[in-house]
This record gives sequence, C-alpha cells and structure tokens, in this order.
Amino acid sequence: MLDGCGRDIRYVRISVTDLCNLGCVYCKPRPVPKLTHDDVMSVDEIIALANDFVNAGFTKIRLTGGEPLVRKGIIPIVKGVCSVTDNVGLTTNGILLSEFAEELKAAGLKGVNVSLDTLDPEAYRKITGGGKLSEVFKGIDAAKAAELKIKLNAVLQRGINFDPLPLLEYAEKTGAELRMIELMPFASTLGYVDERALNAENWLRSLGAEHILDEGKTSLYRYRGHELKVIAPLSRNFCAECDRIRVTCTGMLLPCLHGAKAYPVRDKIGSAGFADYLGSVLKLKPPAHGIGEGIYQNMDMGSIGG
Ligand code: SAM
Repeated sequence: MLDGCGRDIRYVRISVTDLCNLGCVYCKPRPVPKLTHDDVMSVDEIIALANDFVNAGFTKIRLTGGEPLVRKGIIPIVKGVCSVTDNVGLTTNGILLSEFAEELKAAGLKGVNVSLDTLDPEAYRKITGGGKLSEVFKGIDAAKAAELKIKLNAVLQRGINFDPLPLLEYAEKTGAELRMIELMPFASTLGYVDERALNAENWLRSLGAEHILDEGKTSLYRYRGHELKVIAPLSRNFCAECDRIRVTCTGMLLPCLHGAKAYPVRDKIGSAGFADYLGSVLKLKPPAHGIGEGIYQNMDMGSIGG
C-alpha cells in the first residue's frame, strides 16, 4: 500500500501488551498509566487485525510489546497470526523464552528477535532494572533447540558495548545474527541518551570497521573478521525507505515511530472499510522523523511497541 510519499508500506508491528517484566532505562523509564483489561485488544481482535492487514496487502507482521511473552494468550495469538501469513516475527527480551520456545515453534513461528545489549550480568541488571542475564542465555539456548531462527538486537551504548566483539562472538557461537542499533532519543529518556548515545558512523570509524554495503535499514560492515550489521536511524537516516507502521496494544496506529499522531484502528477491525481507512491514514505518514530538529516522541517505546 503506497503512502503519501510513494513508499510501499507492507510491514506492521503489532504490540500485544504494554506490560513488561523488565524496566530498561532507555525504554520505559517512568511509570505510565495502567491500562485496564478492556483497553487492550483481545486475542481475537489481534488475529482479526493481522488478517485485515494481510488482506490489505501487508506481507510482514511482527508481534512486540511491552514484552509479548508476558501477554496471556500469546500462544493462541502467535498461532492465529501465523495462520494468516507465514512472515511473522516476535521481538522479546528472552527472559521467558526458555518456557515458551517450543510452543512458539509449534504455533508456527519461525524466528525470534532477542534484545541483548551486553554479556555482562551486572551491566545487564543495571540497564534492565534487575534482569537476570542467565535467563536470557537459557532462553536463547531453548530457542536454538526449538530450531527458531535467532536475531540478537543490541542497543549501542557508550561504556556498555562500545566493542561489539564479545556480542559478535556470542552470536556466532549461537548461530544467531547480531544487529547493533543506534540508541534513539524519546522525550522521557533524553538524559540517558545524552550520557550513553554514540553516533554509529563515528563509532564505526573509530572501530576501524570496513563498510561493505547498505541494504534497506541495515548497513553491513566487517569488523575483526566478523560481519557486523548496524541499524542507524539517526546517523544514516533511512526514513525515505521506511516500509513499516505500528499498532499499539490499545489499537492506535502510529504511521511513524517518532510521529506525534496516532489513529484509532480498533473500531475498524473486521470491517469492510478497513483497507480504505488504512490507505487514508498511510497518506499521513510523515516523510521523516524530526529527531534532528529536536522533535521527540512523547510516548515511550514500550507503550508504542518497539
Ligand atoms: N520487550 C521486548 C524486547 O525487549 O525486545 C519487545 C519490546 S522492546 C520496546 C523492542 C526493542 O526496542 C528492544 O530491542 C529494545 O532494546 C528497543 N528499544 C527500546 N528503546 C529504545 C531506544 N530508545 N532506542 C533504540 N532501541 C530501543
């Protein structure tokens, strides 16, 4: 489906809950108003919404949160969404993955993205507000045993993962693909961003990493004999190629992760007018984020669904 800038939008990230079992310092640093049960889309609504997107021409769906594995009914959700398209992903912090890996695979999921910024238990505990790294390792082992394809996402942070070698070696040992992601500023996390953010291009230069190619939002480098994938929405802005939108767990559609405007979609689920409505909202997708001009998202990443 084309947006107002002629971009072909075919990828939606659906948040299944705003709840999370971690409290990452750059993600959801302040308490947000608690949602009631009825505020959040039901299992059936999420599956029907996924079906609507596929019927409207979308080809990729990612389930996210909050933490999707704390959502009651996550297995029926995954099963239902996988029954409408085979290109389904799930992003998780991995804490509960050892419990769910086999069931996720049996429900039809082919792969998981696991967020992992560091291999240092103490640094992990600090970033995540008390998370236990050993549980993530257990989860990754279980995902591997269940034959789920694994991608590791590490948010680039000064003093945490400046040298990506340990993460690259761990990824290689695990058979996973590592992507380093530039830390993005949100209105509520500017203090942490000031302290820890690294400009990815400068960082790669100081590492002496060799640039191989840019492919969509991902840039490929070679670093100390390893392939290093980098996603740098700030230093290599890829808004012109953006193909995605997001829906929060309350059913609000955000055409841009950093945009101020969200549009209700919950009341359109299963309706004949869904595709037309979606088309009209996509026309309003901003051409680019305004972070460079100091325009920051007021919602938290965890509430939007990263
Ligand atoms: N709970 C799941 C998880 O941890 O993967 C899914 C939701 S989380 C919001 C999705 C991803 O967003 C995680 O990989 C997290 O590291 C990333 N993220 C959160 N805040 C971010 C920020 N300010 N900049 C870059 N990535 C961020």
